[in-house]
Amino acid sequence: MEYNFKTKIGQTDFVFKGEFTDIKAFFKQVSALRGLSVPKCRICDSTSLWVNFRHVDGFDYYSVRCNACQGEFKFGQLKDNSGLFPKSWEKYEPKDSPPADEPGPPGPGF
Ligand SMILES: [Zn+2]
Repeated sequence: MEYNFKTKIGQTDFVFKGEFTDIKAFFKQVSALRGLSVPKCRICDSTSLWVNFRHVDGFDYYSVRCNACQGEFKFGQLKDNSGLFPKSWEKYEPKDSPPADEPGPPGPGF
């Protein structure tokens, strides 16, 4: 049996064509695809999103990123490595920026 699954990531429409032999496989596949429905950023509501893959220090990272706020919708990998599952939106926080309220050197005294 075959199916077409339509979803939206940002402004881009995707159609996944799938095939299943039993109803359990169908549920498994469609449930995984459902997680790929990401029409807009949950943090800033922008629809300017893109699919992002990174390989860093031997690990693979899968996410949908927001062009507007750099927020990221992260996907985790199933333990048996057979697929991904949606995790959560995370706000972009620059790592190298200095603390906002860094106290200056002590003044001459009041
Ligand atoms: Zn955003």
